[in-house]
Amino acid sequence: MGWSAVIVAAGASSRAGDGPKKPWRSLGRRPVVAWSLAAMAAAGAERIVLVVAEGDEALAAEAIGGLPGVLVVTGGATRALSVRKGLAALPDDDSASAVLVHDAARPFVRAAHASALLAALPAADGAAPALPVADTLKRIEAGSTVTASREGLFRAQTPQAFGLRTLRAAYAAWSEADGEPTDDAQVVERAGGRVVLLPGDPMLMKLTYPEDFAMAEALAGAQTLTRVAQGFDAHRFGPGDHVTLCGVAIPHDKALAGHSDADAGLHALTDALLGAIGDGDIGQHFPPSDPKWRGADSSVFVRDALERVRQRGGRLVNVDVTLVCERPKIAPHRQAMRERLAALLELPLDAVSVKATTTEQMGFTGRGEGLAAQAVAVVQLPA
Ligand code: MG
Repeated sequence: MGWSAVIVAAGASSRAGDGPKKPWRSLGRRPVVAWSLAAMAAAGAERIVLVVAEGDEALAAEAIGGLPGVLVVTGGATRALSVRKGLAALPDDDSASAVLVHDAARPFVRAAHASALLAALPAADGAAPALPVADTLKRIEAGSTVTASREGLFRAQTPQAFGLRTLRAAYAAWSEADGEPTDDAQVVERAGGRVVLLPGDPMLMKLTYPEDFAMAEALAGAQTLTRVAQGFDAHRFGPGDHVTLCGVAIPHDKALAGHSDADAGLHALTDALLGAIGDGDIGQHFPPSDPKWRGADSSVFVRDALERVRQRGGRLVNVDVTLVCERPKIAPHRQAMRERLAALLELPLDAVSVKATTTEQMGFTGRGEGLAAQAVAVVQLPA
């Protein structure tokens, strides 16, 4: 069953203290909402609709980065209006599909949450994670405390899953006289739908108060998996007047031979990116036998590999490339290479390293028969 995600990030964050609104605050060096975006992408959402407050579109674009398939929609004055706008942005012909509605302020959602909720759907109109109330409940009456029963009480979290058609119909049936719903399950309940509760997760906590952010920051590191991967490539010199390395053309009395532009730096980098997600190698995705890649600009291969990382909800942290040759001299071009890679990979300059070395005239690079490149990439994936 195909499914879409609607992530609601249009609230006023009135209880969260000073500073940026919750979705745009930094958590583990990413905006809060970027966590949910990555998790929904990793969980296999066909589409993600991100509902933001008017004026926050640029912040949204920054948080999305290169994540594919995300549509930004401007929300309404209330959460319910924002959800309606998010639902309206999904294609109409998707009658069989499901939707997960999620609050951006719950950053630690994971693919496993999404799949458990979706699996519960065929037997119900909606599914929501919920935690039993563990603390004793108190009410103040006339200045005195009264203890209330917590029997049968649950705290509902998000994401919540529904048939897309079911949720749309429920919102259409909701009237202003019904008040303001605080979650989507309530809207479906009101329309007569049956919502099942699945075991909630303390990690799905909602960041609400300033102190919540300090706790979330402490938890953020444990929610990210760091992968380190390497790539290696070598190309032979042939006749020509320049070589292309790390996307920069360098005048030389030889060229590099290869089926594409023979940019060994970018080829090693492509393999490092693919290695971080266990997705084969450059030769598998771009076979040398395919005439399409003859003379190709190797940045195409890097972009493709980066896209694959992003489709897994991954984020590239840094790259480190070492070029091995006696000639041409790399040092005069090192800064241009770093700038080119930083632009290609959408990384800050200090996260891009290009180094050069020789093999002291030993071996094939030492004899000038060709050159070699090594690359290391660090990628963070949802844990
Ligand atoms: Mg190559």
